Amino acid sequence: MKARKEILTDCTLCYHSCGIRVAVEDGKAVAVKGLESHPINKGELCPKGESILDTIYHPQRIKYPMKKVNGKFERISWETALDEISRKLSDLKEEFGPQMMGMFSGSIGVENMEIAGLTQRFKTAFGSPNFFFRGERMLPDAHQNPPDHIR
Ligand code: SF4
Repeated sequence: MKARKEILTDCTLCYHSCGIRVAVEDGKAVAVKGLESHPINKGELCPKGESILDTIYHPQRIKYPMKKVNGKFERISWETALDEISRKLSDLKEEFGPQMMGMFSGSIGVENMEIAGLTQRFKTAFGSPNFFFRGERMLPDAHQNPPDHIR
């Protein structure tokens, strides 16, 4: 018999962060419904949220580092990918200075707090002043004064 449980969580496909119920069988999500008690979506889901399992389990989803070699992508290890990226970033920093890098973290809603924080820390450790996010058009001085929760 399969072990089944239900997890109450949020859809993270956009900044609305609608509440969802996810049925999990043997460690795999098998069904998703809107969470009736959630104040934003009240049990409803948009078509993107309804098809979230297709996104999670799509056969072409990229799950590991890929490198283009002679026009074709091939799988490489995380260690190799991180080594190559850090070497290239170091070379670029040496040649052009740390400001050559700009970090973009997408939207900074509740669905993206952790990534925004990590992005900001990575940018600072690298020494670049350049940080961008989707809301910056609404916040003209966002580069110099990002919201407190992502400093
Ligand atoms: S269900 Fe739709 S509107 Fe709600 S968070 Fe997911 S993608 Fe956004």
